[in-house]
Amino acid sequence: MKFSQLFIRTLREVPADALVPSHRLMFRAGMIRKLANGLFAYLPLGLRSFRKVEAIIREEMNAIGTLEIKAPVVIPGELWKESGRWDSIGEELLRVKNRLGIDLVVSPTAEEAFSALVRDELSSYRQLPLVLYQINTKYRDEIRPRYGFMRSREFTMKDAYSFHSDDASLDETYQAMGKAYRRIFSRCGLSVIPVRADSGIMGGSGSEEFMVESTIGDNTLLLCRACNYAANVEKAACTPEPIVKFSPVPALEPVRTPNVKTIDELCAFLGIGAKNFIKTLIYRAVNAELADAKEFFAVCIRGDLSVNETKLAAFLKAQEVMLADDADVLRLTGSPVGFVGPVGLSGLVVIADNSVADTCDLVTGALEKDLHFRHVVYGRDWTAWQIADLRTVKAGDHCPLCGGELYEKKGNELGHIFKLGYKYTKSMQISCLDEEGQAHTPIMGSYGIGLDRTLASIIEEHHDEAGIIWPLSVAPYHAAIVPIKYDGAVKNAADELTLALEKHGIEVLLDDRSERPGVKFNDADLIGIPFRIIVGDKNLPLFEMKRRDEKESRLIGLDEAVQELREATSRL
Ligand SMILES: [Zn+2]
Repeated sequence: MKFSQLFIRTLREVPADALVPSHRLMFRAGMIRKLANGLFAYLPLGLRSFRKVEAIIREEMNAIGTLEIKAPVVIPGELWKESGRWDSIGEELLRVKNRLGIDLVVSPTAEEAFSALVRDELSSYRQLPLVLYQINTKYRDEIRPRYGFMRSREFTMKDAYSFHSDDASLDETYQAMGKAYRRIFSRCGLSVIPVRADSGIMGGSGSEEFMVESTIGDNTLLLCRACNYAANVEKAACTPEPIVKFSPVPALEPVRTPNVKTIDELCAFLGIGAKNFIKTLIYRAVNAELADAKEFFAVCIRGDLSVNETKLAAFLKAQEVMLADDADVLRLTGSPVGFVGPVGLSGLVVIADNSVADTCDLVTGALEKDLHFRHVVYGRDWTAWQIADLRTVKAGDHCPLCGGELYEKKGNELGHIFKLGYKYTKSMQISCLDEEGQAHTPIMGSYGIGLDRTLASIIEEHHDEAGIIWPLSVAPYHAAIVPIKYDGAVKNAADELTLALEKHGIEVLLDDRSERPGVKFNDADLIGIPFRIIVGDKNLPLFEMKRRDEKESRLIGLDEAVQELREATSRL
């Protein structure tokens, strides 16, 4: 392919909103253009790489027996009402009405569409397991689309959905998907961090996220220095520090703390550290299933730690938890905010984080303005209804598996495999006949990969000052042929080399433009083609060849060049 015919316009300048390398470089290399906020178009060069990522994903999905279909992007709102997500998803779900007044959804994912399709076709357990996928357009009405294709509104996702007779069959597909995902990311040249939501702590393995490290990542990951523990901060657990026992502890003692408002002021006033303080927070839970579906709970945690609300909601089996407002705190505890403590607290269910259970000689609020208790002992002065792991784990905490030190990284999610259970098959009433002829509800799994984000992440991992450094597997072209000037003997040699390479299936971008050599070299580096072959009259019949990631070029004959590129591309 000739450069002049490819509708490529490379740019020196960078748009002000392009804050990350992938966005800057895709834009500058003429791979993408922006139509509106969060809406991008792929130009020919960008689409070539996109198609290669797509082909890798398709090959790996087909290799594990997953069947490709294609659902519509616009889905009847009725199906989303059946699943309950019409109401549970907020403004990011793009809802529209057609001219007949019928509610429609522009798919952000396709559990409903696939469930409806399977519901109509499934009659017998013999049809199971059924694993279907599509590679299709999705839309999420992000409030703040940013970072180019890392967080766009319209994007392409490979999403697969599986239906099974039993857990064992679901697990088999889930494991096969996990392996296929590892192969996909490895073939794309990506270093992913698989993050298991349960990480062996909560039992079963029902969810695994595939993250890439990213300074703009919207996930915080905690990783162990000593073992392969990796968890999203939302779910991360840790080993509680050993409790230091004092004996004997003096009796509970009230202490006046006038004008002391914050934990810091209290610590200074009493000459203690935040670790010696029991912080008590009153939470309101929405639809909690635990503790007789009570609405308010007191949560006690060590003064230097914070409550992880995702963990708390999961523990209470609640839809959502939020801090109670000041008026509710006063009404429920009889104490202003800042002086709540578990000693003598009645009428509220108290949950203790591991960090304050079984402790002694701590300080806590005494349920009265300007008053605290010291020498507080768990079991003697207060107890909790339940003890749980509720803290937000942070760097420096200890690994729940091996006790090693945890450290933090920011990550972006590229893929997620997830055992859905019966959420959709029950709400959407999917059933088939089992061996005994009885109605049976299948169990379901879902498996997604964001294609555009995967492509952008490849650039994030493979670039330098000059531009993109494509892995050969996803490069828009394998080789860039750069004639010093596209004229005379040089032109003939460049054309001959192009033909020879293309004859062997090597994808060549021939820079036939009448630009200065320096401009052509810069563009080849910016676009990031893995092999660059310079054709100049000085060295003919030899060429100067170098890989994009090599410093020095070497002289090479036509046959050798063909041979080297054939070998490199044969391994793809
Ligand atoms: Zn560990």
